Amino acid sequence: MTNLDPLSRVTACQRALISRGYSGLGTGIGWSCILLDLVDDLLGIDPRIRLTHVRQKYGELRVVLEPADNPSAQSPAALEAVARAQARSLVTCERCGRTPATIDWSREWVETRCRWHHAYDESQRG
Ligand SMILES: [Zn+2]
Repeated sequence: MTNLDPLSRVTACQRALISRGYSGLGTGIGWSCILLDLVDDLLGIDPRIRLTHVRQKYGELRVVLEPADNPSAQSPAALEAVARAQARSLVTCERCGRTPATIDWSREWVETRCRWHHAYDESQRG
């Protein structure tokens, strides 16, 4: 999917997530490919592992792996997959999926944005 523009790419990832049973996730569409890769990594570790409580906090992806009583959900491989996804979220625009992106601490809602979305928000500021 690397030949597509950023929004087409993240839209394709979002569709793939829905086909894997994930919809209405609590982050912007820009992180869809990160979440898709994470879901696929976890499927490879143990198909019973599910992502829950998917959200953004201070510009970083946060997830919970369930079931909590499944040792695979807390295995080093699963936790490393989550860490890789979190590292990607810190440099990927949550709105469009472009890289590089940076965390903007200057606003009330802390978010990881690319320079285009940062410029757009600045233009909307009163
Ligand atoms: Zn963006």
